[in-house]
Amino acid sequence: MGFMDTLSGATEKARNVSEVNNLKRKILYEEERIVEVFADIGKKYYKNPDEDPAVLKTLCEDIDTRRRRIKKMRFELNSMRGYKICPKCDAEVNEKFQFCGVCGARLPDADDEDFTSLESNDYYTESDSFFNADTIKNY
Ligand SMILES: [Zn+2]
Repeated sequence: MGFMDTLSGATEKARNVSEVNNLKRKILYEEERIVEVFADIGKKYYKNPDEDPAVLKTLCEDIDTRRRRIKKMRFELNSMRGYKICPKCDAEVNEKFQFCGVCGARLPDADDEDFTSLESNDYYTESDSFFNADTIKNY
C-alpha cells in the first residue's frame, strides 16, 4: 500500500516535469516560428512593395494566433509551477491568491482568462529581450 502510494506520487511528479518541459518546448517553437514569419513578411515586402496587403495581413494574423497560443501556454506553465501572472503589473503571484499583492488587481481564474485579447503591453516572451508587442502594432 505504502509502496504504491510512493510510486504514484513519483509518477505524478515525473508527469508534471515532462509536461512542463513539453510546454516550454512548444513555447520556444512558437517563438521561433514568429521570428520566421516576421522575416517572411519583410522578405515579401522587400521583393515586392506592392504586395497584396491581404497576403501580409494573413501572415500578421498568423503571428497573432501564435502569440495567443504562447499566452495560453505560459498561463498553463505558470499554474503548473504554482503561480499566476498578474494581468495588470506582470507580478508573479501564488496561485492561491485571488488578488495581486503588488498592485491589488483581481487575478484571473483559468476559466475566465481571455486568451483572445492582446494588450499593447503584452510581453510574450519569457526573456523579454526577444522583442515586445508594442513594436508590432505601431504601423
Ligand atoms: Zn499586479
